[in-house]
Amino acid sequence: MNEAVPQTGKKKIPLHIQILIALILGTVIGLVINPGEIPISDSVTGTLVPGEGETIVLTETGDSGLVYFEKTLDSADQLKGGFPSLAESWTGEKLEYAVSNPNLYIIEEPSKIVIRYTRDQADRSAVSTYSASRASELPPQWQPFYEQHGGGISRKITAASKYIGDLFLRLLKMITIPLIVSSLITGVAGLGDTRQFGRMFGRTLLYYATTSVLAITTGLLMVNLVNPGIGALLPGGGEMVAGQDESLTGIFLGLLNNMIPSNPVHALANGDFLSIITFSILFGVCIIFTGGKSAETLRNFFQAFFDVMMRLTMAIIALAPIGVLAFMIYATSTQGLGIFLTLAWYMLAVALALFVHAVVVLPLMVKFIAKRSPWEFAQAMSPALMTAFSTASSNATLPLTMTSVEKRAGVSNQTSSFVLPLGATINMDGTALYEAVAVLFIAQATPGFELTLGGQVVVAITALLASVGAAGIPHAGLVMMAIVLQAVGLPLEAQGIIIAVDRVLDMARTTVNVWSDSCGCAIIDQYANPQEASPDAVSA
Ligand code: ASP
Repeated sequence: MNEAVPQTGKKKIPLHIQILIALILGTVIGLVINPGEIPISDSVTGTLVPGEGETIVLTETGDSGLVYFEKTLDSADQLKGGFPSLAESWTGEKLEYAVSNPNLYIIEEPSKIVIRYTRDQADRSAVSTYSASRASELPPQWQPFYEQHGGGISRKITAASKYIGDLFLRLLKMITIPLIVSSLITGVAGLGDTRQFGRMFGRTLLYYATTSVLAITTGLLMVNLVNPGIGALLPGGGEMVAGQDESLTGIFLGLLNNMIPSNPVHALANGDFLSIITFSILFGVCIIFTGGKSAETLRNFFQAFFDVMMRLTMAIIALAPIGVLAFMIYATSTQGLGIFLTLAWYMLAVALALFVHAVVVLPLMVKFIAKRSPWEFAQAMSPALMTAFSTASSNATLPLTMTSVEKRAGVSNQTSSFVLPLGATINMDGTALYEAVAVLFIAQATPGFELTLGGQVVVAITALLASVGAAGIPHAGLVMMAIVLQAVGLPLEAQGIIIAVDRVLDMARTTVNVWSDSCGCAIIDQYANPQEASPDAVSA
């Protein structure tokens, strides 16, 4: 079996070890240069005044005149939900209070500057964010602050890391579409007859559905056990996530629309995963139906195309350690670490549930259904898993997932080319689980909100749909959470605070998403080619 690194003649450190070193090194460098939060030297005073109609305007201003936080609340109920201590003192007339522990945080990316403000009163922590594409576009009152604290060496390293990481991501994106097309067509056309395709399709969907439901169940059990939201701090405000108005039906119909491209060339150019997958599958199936010389010619052509794409993919993933290093520096140096403490129980619940699903449930399936050693299989998949962790994108990881599954784990191209691209888009165990835990956390932390068992079932079903609808890109799960929140009548704003820790959780859930797709390959391959599945195909 080939190692997934181009052979250079001299002995090389195996790719997964290189990536592991990059992962650890990146984390250490990121933590060392993390500038931390910048304490505000101002003394900050907040005011609440009645606004138009039932609204209440909340402002927090420093002695220097800087406005750190501004928000119009819809009603006294919203005040109670977001700022209970203030709600207690609110009589409907102007109210002043001191903010006890405000902090600022600067995140510099190559294309934008973000300043984040966190207020930490006895009972609440809230986050608001200001961003601009360059320093001169920041609101004027923020510019002196930025000049004083921004642009340090650590921030330059962060910006450079982001840039390098993004370059690596571009390379991966560059090969993803041609790789999916050539691999799917080769895989489906290579199945030989359509009955075999039908069986593979059925088994794949059954696997996706089973593991997603298991993941959600694990998540719900864990959150009911840990109860992270009881007495937890919810945001008084914060960024809103785009895409939150979409209804469940809207998302579902959109998904169906997306599966049938009116113009496949447009879908290719646009990178519409689902459209491309449908068209490639249909094309492959029709190659089987057509048969004869035409089928032979096309099979040979797409096989050759696929071989070349695979060669290019391997050359690019040899750069994965650099990409992973850059991403880890970026991810760890830009996190406001303080917020982690506030949300420790919530993060723990998500992490534990993901851990149980990834380390107990899925390996048991690999062991007993795929009849392979889960440990060896995980080792074979490690380059893909670590890349998923650092990039937080199933789509971007796809080229690595495909090469690891085929070249290192010995799964046939027929199986992987079918299970993986579709899985990257619709099989997201980690995301489904995360949706369930996060929404239950928000429900527990929302004063006066009671989520019945029936409500939890609604969460489970909508979390499943949200995970199917989520794209394999960073933070997609957070955007999709809006439909779950809406389904049970929770405020979308409650997402405000969990955004701050979403990157880390996204990294973890994306790894589980990719791991589940990979385990699906091992399982389905066992039934497609029982005699060929080789448990000791790991070469490094
Ligand atoms: N980032 C995840 C993925 O690419 C999706 C999500 O945000 O949950 O698989």
